[in-house]
Amino acid sequence: ESVVYWMRMEDVRIDDNTALYKASQKAQQLHLPLVVLNILSPGEWKIHDRSSKKIDFLLRNLRDLKPKFDALNIPLYITSFDRRLQIPRRVITDLMPLFKSHHLFVNLEYEVDELRRDIATVKFGQEKGVKVECFHDRLVVPPGRITSQAGKPMSVFSPWQRQWAKLLDKEPNLLEMSPLPQGNDPSVRQGPLKDLFDATSVPEDIKGFVPEDKQLLKECWPEGTDAARQLLDRFLHTKARKKQFQLVSPLTEGAEEDDKHSRVREYQDGRNLVDGDNSSRLSPYLALGVISGRMVLNEAAKLGKGKRLESGRDTGVGMWVQEVSWRDFYNHVMAKWPRVSMGRPFLEKFADVQWEINEENLQAWKDGKTGYPIVDAAMRACKARGWMENRVRMVSACFLVKSLLLDWRLGEKYFMESFIDGDLAANNGGWQWTASTGTDPQPYFRIFNTLTQSQKCDPNGDYIRYWVPELKNLKGKAVHDPFHSMPRNEFNKLGYPIPIVDHKQSRERALFRYKNVGQKE
Ligand code: FAD
Repeated sequence: ESVVYWMRMEDVRIDDNTALYKASQKAQQLHLPLVVLNILSPGEWKIHDRSSKKIDFLLRNLRDLKPKFDALNIPLYITSFDRRLQIPRRVITDLMPLFKSHHLFVNLEYEVDELRRDIATVKFGQEKGVKVECFHDRLVVPPGRITSQAGKPMSVFSPWQRQWAKLLDKEPNLLEMSPLPQGNDPSVRQGPLKDLFDATSVPEDIKGFVPEDKQLLKECWPEGTDAARQLLDRFLHTKARKKQFQLVSPLTEGAEEDDKHSRVREYQDGRNLVDGDNSSRLSPYLALGVISGRMVLNEAAKLGKGKRLESGRDTGVGMWVQEVSWRDFYNHVMAKWPRVSMGRPFLEKFADVQWEINEENLQAWKDGKTGYPIVDAAMRACKARGWMENRVRMVSACFLVKSLLLDWRLGEKYFMESFIDGDLAANNGGWQWTASTGTDPQPYFRIFNTLTQSQKCDPNGDYIRYWVPELKNLKGKAVHDPFHSMPRNEFNKLGYPIPIVDHKQSRERALFRYKNVGQKE
């Protein structure tokens, strides 16, 4: 007999893992060994647009965990099922008997398909005498806990966020972390489960999900909870360096300790600048659950006045905590209004905006060849390292939707297929925000001006010069808008594309289409 913890795509860690800890408690109580199961499902990844960068990161993190579980005498059993709809049945009827187990522990995932999978697993479990216990773990505040005074679900971020902060004040236990799981007795290696220890290993690659620059990605995003902790430490306690451009992980560079002017303290301004290394870069780790939201907030709380968790726009720390809470917010929205994870707009009235069909423009956007330098820089950064700063995610997304008038779902899909931190709730939330179809009360007629945004977030143009080498020798403001700043013959020598749309005209078109939903001008 044994107790099984089924590790999902979003809880790839040992520390502060609710279902893992609960499974370990159960195992202790029943004097049974604990087994950890992980299922690789390329079929599911394809359907859910998982990027090869993210899958590579997943495999690296599993490889990092394997010896750690080994040291605890816990077998990490990895198997692969391509057909995702069969997973619940296969887990209950094939794997649980293999593990000689009737106790299955999981952390819930809130996407529609994943919830359906869990419901099916519980149902099959009931039929076969397997008790499936599900836990909230992904978020700091579980979905459904935040409501208005009248008990209604909340869809506007600011009031929701105030409630979120209030709740954490009132119930600090929500931030309590789970202890580490107890290891198995070494004798388990000689018992009936002994074959599980050597039965599987973490594959190096999975066909169809091998990124081009594996080595570069490894240097850029080192795997493991320890690496995530170091990034957090660096963000909370060291000073940002301006104009720091490098592909590899910032952890490989020394950083100056400075608690007063650390990145988090300067976050109010820093978060909007892309010409430095100002944010935490934790998103790939949070998206895969290599580090938990509770872990990062507990560290942030140590910087708060009286060690209280600050939250709000007054300080850098409060601002960052607020930013982390967006993660909870978008997951709450997805759990309450599942249509958003099914390709539907949150605001149904915008379901029929007339989008352009233009493969060439879509490809130019993906390739970073739009003739708008800040957009191109961001899109090329995305291709190279699977990640962008928040501000340029907004700028490049807004360009696709409001300047090219292409369906936001095309952009959403491309980001998921490209990002190492691809996360349905955050990505969908970001795209619906941009497309003005989401929860945000910001009206559709507030449209980013790409040029102004470029000058604000990259004042000296260093980000652009790094990612768009055709422009690396341009001095001054011309780098933001070379086509309109230079004589035509000089521009032609750059080998850089002419802008593929006129900003002013496209703005008018976007306004018309949003105002007159369903009509083409
Ligand atoms: P920090 O500024 O250090 O923030 C800390 C953490 O808070 C982040 O790691 C992230 O987990 C969370 N966070 C911050 N902002 C947001 C936000 N707006 N929504 C949700 N969580 C947030 N984030 C993803 O993790 N995955 C995505 O697929 C994703 N797609 C996006 C698509 C668009 C169009 C936009 C506008 C935003 C998207 N974001 C996504 C949110 C945000 O851009 C990234 O989380 C952030 O840039 C990651 O950098 P960081 O870790 O240095 O963030």
